[in-house]
Amino acid sequence: MPNIVIAGAQWGDEGKGKVVDLLSEKVQVVARYNGGHNAGHTVIINGERFVLHLIPSGILHPGILCVMGGGMVIDPWALEKEIAELRARGVDLGENLVVSDRAHVILPHHRALEAMAEEMRGERKIGTTLRGIGPAYEDKAGRRGLRMGDLLRPEHVAGKLAEARRNYELICRGAGRAPEVDWDALVVDLAGFGERLRPRIADVSLVLHREISRGYSILFEGAQATLLDLDHGTYPFVTSSSAAAGGVATGLGVPPTRVDGALGIAKAYTTRVGAGPLPSEIGGSLEEEIRERGAEFGASTGRPRRCGWFDAVVVKYAVRVNGFDSLCLTKLDVLDLLPEIKVCVAYRHGSETLSEFPADLSVLEACEPVYETLPGWGTPTVGVRSFTELPSAAQGYVERLSAMVGCEIGMVSTGPDRRDTLIRATSVLASWFE
Ligand code: GDP
Repeated sequence: MPNIVIAGAQWGDEGKGKVVDLLSEKVQVVARYNGGHNAGHTVIINGERFVLHLIPSGILHPGILCVMGGGMVIDPWALEKEIAELRARGVDLGENLVVSDRAHVILPHHRALEAMAEEMRGERKIGTTLRGIGPAYEDKAGRRGLRMGDLLRPEHVAGKLAEARRNYELICRGAGRAPEVDWDALVVDLAGFGERLRPRIADVSLVLHREISRGYSILFEGAQATLLDLDHGTYPFVTSSSAAAGGVATGLGVPPTRVDGALGIAKAYTTRVGAGPLPSEIGGSLEEEIRERGAEFGASTGRPRRCGWFDAVVVKYAVRVNGFDSLCLTKLDVLDLLPEIKVCVAYRHGSETLSEFPADLSVLEACEPVYETLPGWGTPTVGVRSFTELPSAAQGYVERLSAMVGCEIGMVSTGPDRRDTLIRATSVLASWFE
């Protein structure tokens, strides 16, 4: 299989975990390039539910090398917890998990800073997960961060933390808060992590370069999604990393010339967690019904997700930014019983009709969705595994979305299980997976 990147085409939670897990069978390496333990991938295998926050879901396949890139930020407490939970459920990690020496470490002061920042935003809260992800990236950009590789030289850790500590204490003083970090105890804890994680910490660009030279295939896994990308998302209601496909190059040290293709994951409708505009938000009891049917509650936080109709303006934009060769449409089955289904095809902004996604949030906030209404199919599609077996209105829905966003829909997911997936024979995916 070629080296492909899988990224979310909307605001996340599109079901990337399941697709990455499914395609992991075809590759030797799965590498994650961004984010921290704010992600939550749910994978169901033979009825057993695994939720992974940090470790690529490829870990559930024995023998696959899983790589955590330098574009990630890693909370070593959370990492050890996830490793222990997987072990307790019989997943043998062996030497199959490698962590970048360049990934930045999330520390207790990052969580404290995030809580303060969200509190100060008041009404304009971003709705972050309060796990310290954003401030860890801020320390990285501010050149005062601590990296996983630093844990291997504990004698230098206290010195390397000095600037981050000064900055944190300065902010606390300004906010009239007492600093709440015990730095001496932290240095001791970090030395312990360095000791235990030593065999896993490596130069992942070199590891991946060698795997590619051997002819091994890599699946690049993005966390969050395009509309949450720091540069291309709905700023400032975004995450702090490069979630779109471009993050592969910076987040793993793999050159763009070694990425052969991109697969986007889009839900058959739209969801988003947290604040920020969602033009096609459904509202009322129908939204609640879809939320329940789709189990739209955060895998990491349990927060209810806001639900909207499929927004073709958003997905068309994601196709452009990521260069998707194909899309996997997930959760089609959630729409099974609706008599008709709306799709947002453009935005009305004052007297203008916008067909391209705007960068300016104040424009987006003022937009009214323009809908096209398509017929529902009214019969269950759960577990359908061939495109021609879908009801004709469901086939029509898929074809219409594909035409609107300008990209083939080569895969459709019709249920949470790995096996409830169909790949269309005519799609570019079929040639990738031969
Ligand atoms: P991710 O972060 O993009 O991996 O998405 P999540 O794991 O947060 O959310 C996807 C949820 O939808 C999980 O609970 C999956 O088991 C479930 N899921 C994935 N694909 C389908 C599908 O086609 N139909 C249904 N009903 N559920 C699905």
